[in-house]
Amino acid sequence: METTLNRRNFLKGAIASGAVLVAGSALVGCASNGGSAAAEGDSLVGYQPIEFSEETDVLIVGTGIAGLSAAMDPVEAGYKVMLADKRDTYGGESFMACGVMNIAGSQAQKRAGIEGDPAEKWEKYAPVLEQKGETDDMEYKKNVYLYQTEWADRVEADYGAQFQPLDDYKDTGAPTSMLLPGRGLGDMTAVLTPVVNGLEEKGAVIELNRKATNFIVDSEGTVIGMRFVDPTNDKIVDVKAKKIIIATGGFSCNQVMVSEYFPEQARMCPLTVYSMGEGHELCRSIGGTYAHMDMHANLMSDLAQVTVWGYFGRNVQVTPQGKRFINEDQSHDSPDAAGQMGLGFWWQIFDSQLINGSQKWNVELNMKGNADKLVGPCETLDELAKAMEVPAENLKATFEEYDGYVDAGEDKAFGKKLFLEKLEAPYYAFKHAPFRYKTHGGLKIATDSQLVDGSGNPIANVYCCGSTTPDSGSDLSPNAGSGLVSGKAVVAALQAEGSAE
Ligand SMILES: Cc1cc2nc3c(=O)[nH]c(=O)nc-3n(C[C@H](O)[C@H](O)[C@H](O)COP(=O)(O)OP(=O)(O)OC[C@H]3O[C@@H](n4cnc5c(N)ncnc54)[C@H](O)[C@@H]3O)c2cc1C
Repeated sequence: METTLNRRNFLKGAIASGAVLVAGSALVGCASNGGSAAAEGDSLVGYQPIEFSEETDVLIVGTGIAGLSAAMDPVEAGYKVMLADKRDTYGGESFMACGVMNIAGSQAQKRAGIEGDPAEKWEKYAPVLEQKGETDDMEYKKNVYLYQTEWADRVEADYGAQFQPLDDYKDTGAPTSMLLPGRGLGDMTAVLTPVVNGLEEKGAVIELNRKATNFIVDSEGTVIGMRFVDPTNDKIVDVKAKKIIIATGGFSCNQVMVSEYFPEQARMCPLTVYSMGEGHELCRSIGGTYAHMDMHANLMSDLAQVTVWGYFGRNVQVTPQGKRFINEDQSHDSPDAAGQMGLGFWWQIFDSQLINGSQKWNVELNMKGNADKLVGPCETLDELAKAMEVPAENLKATFEEYDGYVDAGEDKAFGKKLFLEKLEAPYYAFKHAPFRYKTHGGLKIATDSQLVDGSGNPIANVYCCGSTTPDSGSDLSPNAGSGLVSGKAVVAALQAEGSAE
């Protein structure tokens, strides 16, 4: 049963939330709870009457990896697709991401001789997920998981997305379960810009400076469009749409939402400014409900891409006191560990192996772009300790112990496996600080990604993907997979409606 909201309750909710506009009817004349009825001509300040100036089959709000991926199937099926983004550029936080994509069995991997069967991997992964208890719908999660491989193959073959050849890093000890963009870490434009261009070539329209502010519903409460405001000139645009996909990202930058729903990270600063949870709030205004809002999300460093260098080269990470505190081959975990230890910052020490390694493009980019957080080259550990302002005796003791583990072939302190190698002078070190950067919690959806209300009934015409919904995984490739789920779902719904007409 699809929900058309009871008109009286709907209007009450609409007035309370301010995020819903009713077509063909002003929000007046509704006496509720014994209050007095509004008079003819009364209106809410700031709410212009609805005037649809544009119309589309599929409207996608948000142009990150989830929104772009959601557009692929409807565009390819010949539907009219519009993508809208509040910013003056597309790509969302997906463009800023490090670019680590955990995918099995893609063509890019197969070309390098790396075999892998996503279905087999899912069989192993599913029980782990089930045990965690964070997944409400294993069928949805499975689809998201399996579609990651389809996504990688399609964006490469049909849109010209560039992945870094695995031959660059497959024999270095780096994980081959990771796909990276074009020139390596930090080059997400090499994957997503071709997708944007390809979507436009196939007929999609991408509108920037369009911030979604309200759902537009008909007099029965059925969603029929979206109101946007151009942040540069406050101009309002009302778009009529048969299906709307909300792909507005997470809520990690919304301090009020983080404090209320994810207090674990309320005292951390946000790394970015765009993930304001607007889609979350908009969907709630039409009856959507939240799930898993407090699900743990790891922290990130202000030098996000540097954070994941540990997968690709040797490095040693130390506290401000010069002591190791983390398994550096899982260096993605260091911001969390630093946060838990209450460290304001930590250091990542590296040498020429990373500088000349498979991620050299990214290493150079960060060394040039973040020179204020970099020390080195230093010829001795004493010189390095002085530059880092850490006690030299601690740093030297740390390296003595670490080198002993390398000689023994076993890191007894932290279990490091990848790149358990001695560093050589000249040494360099980057200073990191922990930030919050993503959230998992979001809107409850049905298996086809359609938004549901508190009783689990689908809300007509609205779908969610990417970091707006908990089971997407809030990482690049699962968010892409979740975009495909939504794209396929709206195509199926439009086809069914078309054949019913
Ligand atoms: C620095 C950093 C590094 C990361 N590195 C990795 C990594 O290596 N691997 C990985 O798997 N994940 C990584 N992540 C996480 C990953 O980037 C996100 O999970 C993913 O990009 C979210 O995709 P999305 O499409 O849901 O949202 P986004 O990419 O954030 O896109 C949402 C879009 O919606 C738009 N929008 C929001 N509100 C509105 C509105 N009201 N109206 C119109 N438009 C709106 C935004 O402007 C934005 O363009 C990283 C994240 C960050 C911040």
